[in-house]
Amino acid sequence: MTLLTKNLKLLFITAIVLVAFGFQAQASEKNDYQGPAPKYIFYFIGDGMGLSQANATEAYLGAIAKSNGIQKLEFSKFPNTGFYTTYATNRFITGSAAAGTALSTGHKTSINTIGMDASKQIAYKNIAEMAKDKGYKVGIVSSVSIDHATPATFYAHEPSRNQYYKISLDLSKSGFNYFAGGGFKHPEGDGKIDDNNTMANFGMGDATQIKKKQTNSMDIAISKGYRIVNSLKGFHALKKGDDKIIASAPHLAGGKALPYAIDQDSLTDISLGDFTQKGIELLDNPNGFFMMVEGGKIDWACHANDAATVVKEVLQFDKAVSKAIAFYNQHPNETLILVAGDHETGGMALGFSGTHYDSEFALLQYQNISYEDFTKIMNTYRIDKRGHYNFEDALALAKKYFGLGDASKGLELSKFDLQQMKDAFNQSMKKKQNKKNKDQYYLLYGSYDPFTTTLCHLLSQKAGIGWTSFSHTATPIPVRAMGVGANLYTGFFDNTDIPKKLMKLIENK
Ligand SMILES: [Zn+2]
Repeated sequence: MTLLTKNLKLLFITAIVLVAFGFQAQASEKNDYQGPAPKYIFYFIGDGMGLSQANATEAYLGAIAKSNGIQKLEFSKFPNTGFYTTYATNRFITGSAAAGTALSTGHKTSINTIGMDASKQIAYKNIAEMAKDKGYKVGIVSSVSIDHATPATFYAHEPSRNQYYKISLDLSKSGFNYFAGGGFKHPEGDGKIDDNNTMANFGMGDATQIKKKQTNSMDIAISKGYRIVNSLKGFHALKKGDDKIIASAPHLAGGKALPYAIDQDSLTDISLGDFTQKGIELLDNPNGFFMMVEGGKIDWACHANDAATVVKEVLQFDKAVSKAIAFYNQHPNETLILVAGDHETGGMALGFSGTHYDSEFALLQYQNISYEDFTKIMNTYRIDKRGHYNFEDALALAKKYFGLGDASKGLELSKFDLQQMKDAFNQSMKKKQNKKNKDQYYLLYGSYDPFTTTLCHLLSQKAGIGWTSFSHTATPIPVRAMGVGANLYTGFFDNTDIPKKLMKLIENK
């Protein structure tokens, strides 16, 4: 045997071994659950929530309580924890549509696809639809718009997450009992039919004509028996027995989402926890229920590298989980609570090169506004000043909203900090930003307001938090589980295993 054929033979054997092992790794996630189906299933998904987002919040709680370590979130106290990979079929770093499809259907798919295979031909049945077939009542709750990627993967089957109108039509087709949280992005009709082709390309007339021809998807929902509730009074009036409800927050922020927790007014806004509690009230019935609750804005705040807003979002998400825990305590032998995430966002790290080994998480408490609302303040300032802007004003705003520059809070600014702020402020004051050095500009500010982003970065860094990206990352994600069948959720598996285990759990219902 020549050396070459010997090597080829070796390669062939290695390939077989690798394939066998790969197959075994897949098959080893076997599931022989024989017990009763959980009657009540809570499936929480923190969008963009990896281990860092949860643990940073716990470190923050520990720091403001002046204790040395962390204070656990409620979901971190669950008895079972597993970790899973999140990659999509065509990209290692996933997106919310592909990750949501994996978490809802047990199938991997391509980026931007909602509840269908990667080639966008086959619609996959999801766990919420299966639960409905088994007689459970179904609720879908999110802090972002209810037609957004993650919630959509639990009731829609569309080639693109951007087909908001078609997704909202799928919503009323689902027949599910309770939709709640944010609003709808395009109930009056999509101008675009998908990422690349306008409706005109389909010979359907231009976008305006199409909009005129399309019936508002909310009217269609009403014709199918749904009731739309979008006032505080209407929401509080909802009571046990009310069915087929679409409840939206009375005051919506950007993207038809709930306002960030850090910006919410407890008197006039409805929190994610309130929507979850109402869901329990409306869905509870002798056949049980399945409720998916998404904390959708953890992701958005991470995209913007805004650590203080992330911490407040995670806290509000954990409060929603607490509502499920209170219910669990009344029905411990019939309830399952899962708390998962779809991917990590921002490459958030509990450590920053500039602070070496130091952490000062309590500093995040001095930020009292989200990057979103602060950007609005900056935009108003720029328009008001008409070119006569002043860095002293910027310093005052940084101090008022982020505590930055307030020595009594331990937030002194170094020369380097001030230089970064000045550069960013000058960029923010330009009507059209100077992107001469596009790569450098993007690394500094992403696609956000330069001054706002710089303040978010400076406060994060002083707290000892680093960010590596304005996008998602591929780090494995934890799932925490408590209740009936929770022991299936221990180990290291794939995101598709989470609904597969759920499907097995409800098989014998
Ligand atoms: Zn996501």
